[in-house]
Amino acid sequence: MAKAGVETIDDLLYYVPRDYTDWSRMSEVGALRVGDRVTVVVRVVSCDVTRWGRRASFVAALEDDTGAFFARWYNQPYLSTVLKQGTRAVVSGEVRFDRHARRIEFINPAFEVMREDEVAELVHAGRIVPEYSQIGELSGRRIRRMLKNALDRFLDDLIDPLPAGVRKRRSLVGLRRAMADVHFPSSLDRARVARARLAYEEFFLFQIIVGLRKREASSGGASVRFTWIEEEHARLKGLLPFELTRAQARVIEEIRGDMAEERAMHRLLQGDVGSGKTVVAAAVMHQAVANGYQAAIMAPTEILAEQHFVNVTELLAPLGDRVVLLRGGMRGAERDEALRMIESGEADVIVGTHALIQEGVRFKNLAFAVVDEQHRFGVVQRAALREKGGSPDILVMTATPIPRTLALTVYGDLDVSVLDELPPGRTPVVTAVRDEAGRKKVYEFLLKEIADGRQVFIVYPLVEESEKMELAAATKMFEELRDRSFKDATVGLIHGRMKPEDKDRVMERFKAGEIDLLVSTTVVEVGVDVPNATVMVIEHAERFGLAQLHQLRGRVGRGGHRSYCVLMVGRGASDEARERIQVLADTSDGFVIAERDLEIRGPGEFLGVRQHGLPRFSVANLLRDTRLLTEAREDAFAFLSTDPELATSEGRLVAEAIATRFRDRETFIDVG
Ligand code: ADP
Ligand code: MG
Repeated sequence: MAKAGVETIDDLLYYVPRDYTDWSRMSEVGALRVGDRVTVVVRVVSCDVTRWGRRASFVAALEDDTGAFFARWYNQPYLSTVLKQGTRAVVSGEVRFDRHARRIEFINPAFEVMREDEVAELVHAGRIVPEYSQIGELSGRRIRRMLKNALDRFLDDLIDPLPAGVRKRRSLVGLRRAMADVHFPSSLDRARVARARLAYEEFFLFQIIVGLRKREASSGGASVRFTWIEEEHARLKGLLPFELTRAQARVIEEIRGDMAEERAMHRLLQGDVGSGKTVVAAAVMHQAVANGYQAAIMAPTEILAEQHFVNVTELLAPLGDRVVLLRGGMRGAERDEALRMIESGEADVIVGTHALIQEGVRFKNLAFAVVDEQHRFGVVQRAALREKGGSPDILVMTATPIPRTLALTVYGDLDVSVLDELPPGRTPVVTAVRDEAGRKKVYEFLLKEIADGRQVFIVYPLVEESEKMELAAATKMFEELRDRSFKDATVGLIHGRMKPEDKDRVMERFKAGEIDLLVSTTVVEVGVDVPNATVMVIEHAERFGLAQLHQLRGRVGRGGHRSYCVLMVGRGASDEARERIQVLADTSDGFVIAERDLEIRGPGEFLGVRQHGLPRFSVANLLRDTRLLTEAREDAFAFLSTDPELATSEGRLVAEAIATRFRDRETFIDVG
């Protein structure tokens, strides 16, 4: 049970049924009709165990005053010691007709033994019966019995952690009633109400944690109160070859509001691939610089840092900002010079990887930090960053659209901005699903694109468990393509096992157009910008999540040429997998894709990383209980504003409940 997270009576009580079976309809044996789902009170007339091989079935003849019939249980021969001749029992099941014996019977019915003179409370049959997920070897029936005992003994000890005001506002039933009803309800309606109340409670407690963390994140020293200098912003806009989209202008406004405040900004910027996050980041960094401070932008890899350096330099150098790149590979005098410029303040905007915040880098007055692709950027780094420069405003950017429920939980301590509009004139990437039968045609198409001067990605999945094998497969494919199908083109290979310098070299060659076709494992996933690349072929597309496929697809369609994505499904792929992948061909809206992906894979898988920081909710369901979550968040934040230290008697109950309920779960929302 501990393995399933059930270690205390509390945990057990919150182990709620996954479903219910309504066995509350009673009947007499004489009135049984085929198809009925009913309960009868009977006496065991006789019984018998039949065995064949290692299988066994237990058959009992059952009767009441109106008639008799048979019930059969498979693989439970021990029932012969439970349902002995003369035993009285309550039996619930569906009435079937056995063609061979030409009689009605119950198969594997639910049952409960009754003592002759005792009208015991029914647990397993003859009522609305809770169905629990099995835990290891423990059957649902055993768990049901444990829960009944736990409720009988401890229900009256339960103290409701929800503040009275909140309960009243949302018309929530009390904890004891909810607990009794969720496990042994007198009607399905009451079970539903009870479950909702418990799910709400779970969200409420969790959002209290989120609220506390949010406050903590923006404490730790005051941040700079920037003055927005509109002339500088106008200069920047004047130099852009395009107009900002409405979404970009709105997000800049949101950030501007945060920058003006003394509280440190802590904002997540979500925007689909190509939505123009870089310009937004550059515009607000320029304001920091115009205020006389330094800004930094950090990327997860060297390649991406270099790309940012090029883009940010292009945008900000003409305005007079000094942009400096700190590369990991820098050594000796070159590195010393970069460090000196950062420390002296000659560098206005510093671009680098997360190594920027490691020891040895001293800033003059860092006041604004942009973190690209936050998935790999954890709480620890965030704290380290704060040490570097008092409390810089932090803008975290991600290209993975995150459905709202997850945004409110995993990233619930961040304010969220969304770039929900692509710059005009983008034509969606033409997307097709193909299988082995279509491979030849796909290759012909690739050859034609290459002949037209375009470049192509072929991505191979790399799954952790069988990394070696997959790598071998990717390498073999590379050799095959290089020596046969594409022997007249230049074929390159890049994978995660290569040294960073080697990876960089291959990427540089691809960017420079020296490689026509790049075979790659998923290292190209994030942010690589090669406008001349027009085709993305993804092998074994069925092994990727939808969000990941969408990211990969975003690697093409970045230049003026019409672009294509070919999703190759392997021989073993199920129809279901094909259908799932088809979503990509049907839409290019990252949010729609993310929602579908979340539905299909569930939150843990969706977020992908092990330390995704998502708590294991035992009652609440992140996909279905969206409304409850929104309400709980509102109420929790309101409660915290009246009782910020959880010091009132109600606040203390909340704190205690959090300590027990979220004991050792992964509640510590890591942005990463
Ligand atoms: P992402 O959000 O994926 O990081 P980028 O910032 O790299 O997107 O922008 C993608 C491309 O769109 C870049 O070439 C950029 O210059 C261009 N772009 C950004 N904003 C606009 C806009 N408002 N109108 C037209 N093109 C834009
Ligand atoms: Mg980007």
